[in-house]
Amino acid sequence: MPKDKPEFFVRVEPELCKGCGLCVAFCGRDALKMYDDLKSGKRVPQVVNMERCNGCRLCEWYCPDFAIYIVEKVAAKAI
Ligand code: SF4
Ligand code: SF4
Repeated sequence: MPKDKPEFFVRVEPELCKGCGLCVAFCGRDALKMYDDLKSGKRVPQVVNMERCNGCRLCEWYCPDFAIYIVEKVAAKAI
C-alpha cells in the first residue's frame, strides 16, 4: 500500500545559511546532510531522506539564521 505523502516539506535558504551544521546535528531522524552547494559556493543542509522527516521542526528551532524551516502544504479544496 502506498504511503501518504507528507503534508509538509523542509525548505533551505542557502543565502541565509552559514553552514554551521546545527540543523543536521539536531535532526534526530537523519533526514539532513550537509553538501556543497555549487550555486552559492557554501556547505548547506539538504534533505536526503524526506521519508524519515517527521516534521518535528528541531532544525528550524535550532537554526540561528532562520535558514531552514518547515512549510506546510495547503490542501487544495474543490469548489
Ligand atoms: S523537521 Fe525534524 S526530522 Fe525533519 S529535517 Fe527537521 S529536524 Fe529532521
Ligand atoms: S543550522 Fe541554519 S545556518 Fe546552520 S547549517 Fe543549518 S540551515 Fe545553515
